[in-house]
Amino acid sequence: MHPLKIIIIIVLGYLLYRLYMAGRKKRLAAEDQRERAAINDVLVQDPSCGAYVPRGQALRHQHHGEEFFFCSEKCRRTFVEKKKDNSAG
Ligand SMILES: [Zn+2]
Repeated sequence: MHPLKIIIIIVLGYLLYRLYMAGRKKRLAAEDQRERAAINDVLVQDPSCGAYVPRGQALRHQHHGEEFFFCSEKCRRTFVEKKKDNSAG
């Protein structure tokens, strides 16, 4: 085999490899974005004011292992205060 042919094959192989990796990266990024969008799309209800908020943007509060979501810090505080009152009796 002519040595130039070997070089051409190596270069072509490398270029194909680069193309494959670039395509893979793009695919992975698109999948990641879809997943993130799906999480953001899920609406959760704010137990304090009753509003629906995208889960990705909601404020969280854990209470006895249960997770609650809120539209604002104010709603979270209201909810936490109410829970405190309840437990105080
Ligand atoms: Zn709220």
